[in-house]
Amino acid sequence: MEVMRDITAQQRVEEESCENERMMNRTQEMAHLGSWELDVVNNRLTWSDEVYRIFGLQPQQFEATYAAFLQAVHPDDRAAVDAAYSGSLRESRDTYEVKHRIVRRSDDQVRVVYEKCEHLRDESGHILRSLGMVQDITEREQTEEKLRQLSLAVDQSPASVVMTDLAGNIEYINPKFSQLTGYRPEEVIGKNPRALKSGLTPRETYAQLWRTIRAGREWHGEFINRKKNGELYHEDARISPIVNPEGRITHYLAVKEDITERKNIERMKNEFVSMVSHELRTPLTSIRGALGLIAGGVMGEIPAQAKELIAIANQDCERLVRLVNDILDIQKLECGKMVFDFRPLDLGALVAAALEANRGYAEQYGVRFVLTEKLDRVLVNGDRDRLLQVMANLLSNAAKFSPRHSMVTISLSGPGAMVRVAVSDCGPGIPVEFRARIFQKFAQADSSESRQKGGSGLGLSISKELIEKHGGQLGFYSETDRGTTFYFDLPRLDFR
Ligand code: ADP
Repeated sequence: MEVMRDITAQQRVEEESCENERMMNRTQEMAHLGSWELDVVNNRLTWSDEVYRIFGLQPQQFEATYAAFLQAVHPDDRAAVDAAYSGSLRESRDTYEVKHRIVRRSDDQVRVVYEKCEHLRDESGHILRSLGMVQDITEREQTEEKLRQLSLAVDQSPASVVMTDLAGNIEYINPKFSQLTGYRPEEVIGKNPRALKSGLTPRETYAQLWRTIRAGREWHGEFINRKKNGELYHEDARISPIVNPEGRITHYLAVKEDITERKNIERMKNEFVSMVSHELRTPLTSIRGALGLIAGGVMGEIPAQAKELIAIANQDCERLVRLVNDILDIQKLECGKMVFDFRPLDLGALVAAALEANRGYAEQYGVRFVLTEKLDRVLVNGDRDRLLQVMANLLSNAAKFSPRHSMVTISLSGPGAMVRVAVSDCGPGIPVEFRARIFQKFAQADSSESRQKGGSGLGLSISKELIEKHGGQLGFYSETDRGTTFYFDLPRLDFR
């Protein structure tokens, strides 16, 4: 009876120890963490199940000795691993750590492991056993490497990078930011980037920036900022919210490029173009005058052949004058130097005058202007010459791109706060792929037909700017082979 009780108790102890081992194995597996023990006296190595898994080995394949373990280590790291172990023995240290690669036997994959070891000694200080743990840290290493690379990329980025909290206080700047602005991290971290403000960026820019990023969208724009030494610089900035996995904005990230140099070159180019154009305009005007006089017969009758040449020269001269004027207009609009003479004016009368002034041009193309809808008296606050310039551009384009003997219809409508002038033709329409570029400077559709019609591709970009300066909008709709309508809307002065 006594014996049986003993056996049952022993069985229970064995079962419990089995269960403990199972639990330990499972835990080690979950943590990718194995344990080993080296009996130094008998050179016997014991590995836990997880160590076998990490090395990709089966117990029966492995002769459990220290030398066999070294064979499983990556050949390039063997010496270092052995040096760590034997060094700790030689220097009588109780612990050592080592990170090294192994070649996993099951699939020949190179893995990275971290090992930590402790020596147990007898009373006289001789090592009896070494205990160790080994952990597969390949994935962690890869993630850390990726983070290291990313952080290096941000550190070495030629763009300034600034991260702020939700209130706009700076949490991080990269070295380029310091290099550009002269502010060291400790001078700006925790502070608002307000110190950079020069007072030259329009207030509206900041308001729009905050509206955009608070709504979770990316903002793109320009600042004129001030460095620590007082110098001004231009920046092109992209600012976007950083959103956490729950969809909440946690930070804002600004990536900014110093465009001061580019701005200076642009300004120099503009000044140069504007100077050349001015220099061209004066002699051109006198050539045009002289040609006009000769063509008009002031110098007496000229032979028919010469007349033809003079007419061609006159036309080309007119074209050059238009081009030079367009270039000068673009320059003035870009630098904000165009002067507007705004006055209340009757848009109906202005449209009628524009039709009259461009009728001759339409006749060259065999096209008729027809006013289909008009309003009796619509007052807008406008610059008469500039609005006539827009009308001339829309009417001449419509005439140029109309089939012969067709009609260009013009309408004036506007029951609300805005009045719309629309010019419609039955031409080929605007090619779909060109629509997005149509308002860019020098843009012309790629068809040879478009090029043959002459022109510079500046007219629409000028017209759009001019209308926007009037607080209005210029747009178009177009259908291939059916025709195009260009329109502009202006705020009515007489709307109550
Ligand atoms: P330009 O007419 O001097 O080339 P614009 O800026 O006025 O310059 O027009 C740019 C281009 O837009 C034209 O070259 C043409 O390709 C296209 N375009 C403008 N108006 C029309 C129209 N009514 N129908 C078809 N294409 C047009």
